[in-house]
Amino acid sequence: MSGIISRKENELISNFKKNGTLKKFNPEEEMQGLAKNGGVAVICADGDIDAELFHRRISHRPHAIRIFGGPLLFSPNFGGYDEGFARKMIENVKQGMEVKKTRTLYLYFHAPCGLATAFNHEIPEILDLARSVNGSFTSDNFFFRVFTLFHVKRINKGGIMEQNVYLLQV
Ligand SMILES: [Zn+2]
Repeated sequence: MSGIISRKENELISNFKKNGTLKKFNPEEEMQGLAKNGGVAVICADGDIDAELFHRRISHRPHAIRIFGGPLLFSPNFGGYDEGFARKMIENVKQGMEVKKTRTLYLYFHAPCGLATAFNHEIPEILDLARSVNGSFTSDNFFFRVFTLFHVKRINKGGIMEQNVYLLQV
């Protein structure tokens, strides 16, 4: 089935959950009004990711940018990195946040991701790239809060397809 992580990747995700690298993210509990002016999300344009629906749980005013690769495009270590393009996108995000009066940013990394696969980035590496992108945003005082999330589409033990969003420990 396409758009679903492999069995091996599923085990990997379970291990990352066990060792605390990934933590199930529950917006209703963890947001506490943080996104009252809307949260800006950067999401991969893959049709296989339903993060926008999830993002509506975070913010009643979901401002979202969808582009192939999503926040992977911000990492200089991403195989398809283009500095000028990344800089322009960040500028656009900042302008949008300025006019919408929000400082809360949500970076949705995900698996399986077509563009990550095209550049041979496997899940552990995607998480490394995500950490570096998180660091570049959190060290910029413009952003009030940055949530680096990892969206996973998988078949659970009951044989049912599910989509989960985890907060990455950075
Ligand atoms: Zn993707």
